[in-house]
Amino acid sequence: MSDLFSVADVTAARGTLRKMGIAPGEGEAPAHYTLRTGEQRLALNAHLGAALRLTHTGNIHCLHCGRRTRKSFAQGYCYPCFKSLAQCDTCIVKPETCHYHLGTCREPRWGEQHCFQPHVVYLANSSGLKVGITRKTQLPTRWLDQGAIQALPILEVDDRLQSGLVETLFKQVVGDRTNWRAMLKGDVAPLDLVAERDRLLASLAPELAALRQRVGETAIREVSLDPLSLSYPVWEAPRKVVSHNFDKDPDVSGRLMGLKGQYLILDTGVINLRKFGGYEVDVAIE
Ligand SMILES: [Zn+2]
Repeated sequence: MSDLFSVADVTAARGTLRKMGIAPGEGEAPAHYTLRTGEQRLALNAHLGAALRLTHTGNIHCLHCGRRTRKSFAQGYCYPCFKSLAQCDTCIVKPETCHYHLGTCREPRWGEQHCFQPHVVYLANSSGLKVGITRKTQLPTRWLDQGAIQALPILEVDDRLQSGLVETLFKQVVGDRTNWRAMLKGDVAPLDLVAERDRLLASLAPELAALRQRVGETAIREVSLDPLSLSYPVWEAPRKVVSHNFDKDPDVSGRLMGLKGQYLILDTGVINLRKFGGYEVDVAIE
């Protein structure tokens, strides 16, 4: 068991939801999930099969400043934070639009610490082949958050902007989205990611060479690693995916059938907890 999280032995809690902590299992073992509400931590794997109830109290607190907000923006922020934090800027989702060099970064220091760091361009299989980018230190968390069953880093670059430029090239020939319904249903065929990597690098060789000329010959480096397989604690995948939504019904309950990506899979439907960051909930497990 990973000691990344302090896991208290609690079965009832009230607090503000954050995205779940997910640590990879050792070897073939499924990932370890931790529900996080406020300062409380609840190890979820041990409660598979149990009746779980999450009740939204009606309060939403900004994950950054803690102030109460009527509505959550960008999965957990108040409107002022959404408009002022660099991590809520559109350039985070579209790194190729980084505007630091124009002197308009919302928080230059934050940008230096998070964006001007080595980034990885990877291939993953969450609901089929996709390309993605992330800060090197975010691996394998990023893949676990997406519910990927396989992942392979293919290129390393010096900063986030470069990762966006490379990803833009790859997006001409491969998708960057996860079909979350297919991911949850779990009927995803394994892929030969090494073969996909070799195929893509060969077909994009001219474009990558041109980009290296632009940003520096050593800026975009091929990495040679083995693909990683990831597995999840899922007793029974949903056959039909119905989703719960605290905004429509504050009471979400059911038997916990599995955990994949940032989703709780209940026998009554699924819920993406990341989407409800900042929502205050009462949690009870029977
Ligand atoms: Zn705020």
